[in-house]
Amino acid sequence: MDKASLASALGSPSVFGQSQFAFMRGNAFEARVKADGGAELLRLVHEKLDGRAAEPVGAEVPDLSASGPEGRAARTSLALREATRTPGTWTLLDHPMLALEVAGSPAFLEPDAVVVHPDGSWTVVEIKSFPMLDGAADPAKVGAAARQAAVYVLALERVAAHLDPAPRVRHRVLLVCPKDFSNLPTASAVDVRKQRAVTDRQLARLTRIEDIADELPDGVCFSPELPTEELTEAVESVPAAYAPECLSACELAFHCRARSREAGAVTRLGRPVRAELGGLSTVEEVLAAARGEAGDPDDPAVAALRRAAGLRAEALAMAGVGGGGVAGCR
Ligand code: SF4
Repeated sequence: MDKASLASALGSPSVFGQSQFAFMRGNAFEARVKADGGAELLRLVHEKLDGRAAEPVGAEVPDLSASGPEGRAARTSLALREATRTPGTWTLLDHPMLALEVAGSPAFLEPDAVVVHPDGSWTVVEIKSFPMLDGAADPAKVGAAARQAAVYVLALERVAAHLDPAPRVRHRVLLVCPKDFSNLPTASAVDVRKQRAVTDRQLARLTRIEDIADELPDGVCFSPELPTEELTEAVESVPAAYAPECLSACELAFHCRARSREAGAVTRLGRPVRAELGGLSTVEEVLAAARGEAGDPDDPAVAALRRAAGLRAEALAMAGVGGGGVAGCR
């Protein structure tokens, strides 16, 4: 399901994605890095990852065009196979297409580039538009790029496993960024072994999509073509646990936040608060427990709320402010 289209059809469009300006700037930088048959990009791969190999002069840049993601993935596999069987040459795959099984269904991935070294090994290249200042970039952004590249490494390993002998997929990827505040490229080798291992474990543990679909009510459909009311009802038939973290991770965040507010769910206050409140799942339940109108007094969360409400009442009384009640906390 395309969640961005679904969010728009529900009337709560997601705000994911780069601004048009950032997008164009990123594209211009990538085009510069890959100009002249990827000469600069290959020079950086040679310098940062494979200094002992021959200089990357006259590298191959195969045409990877084909129709549909499946066709492009097949074309990429073929190009990788051919490049690996031509030792001694450098090959640049510009925007290859890789397939990776996720929860039992194929997902198609498009790294910025994959380089085949003269020894037949493969390297993932990620080109980002955030700057590298004095050789170091924002660690959070580098971490996100490393996690992304680790997924590409896993997908490449699946392709490599079908070749005999299987070529080595390097676990050090090349991150290319603008140098300082210029648009000149610079690069850093990033070790993604840890991110690769974590992602591999997570993929192995994912519930299969068929099993998730089996849990859905009969006949439920999430097509963005449906009338908004019908679509909203379909989405509501699946329980959701909105938390502020969703805002940076899911296209449906605005929709789920609005529903969570309507329902008075405490999850919208953040997972740590939710964990502190034990079995109390709505603001109404929390307030009722604090007022002593509901809740088991032996429940540590209820006891803490009552104590907090008592302290608040005492503080207000001492300050000469009356009548606030616990509801004033809202
Ligand atoms: S609860 Fe969060 S992760 Fe789940 S659908 Fe809603 S916004 Fe997405």
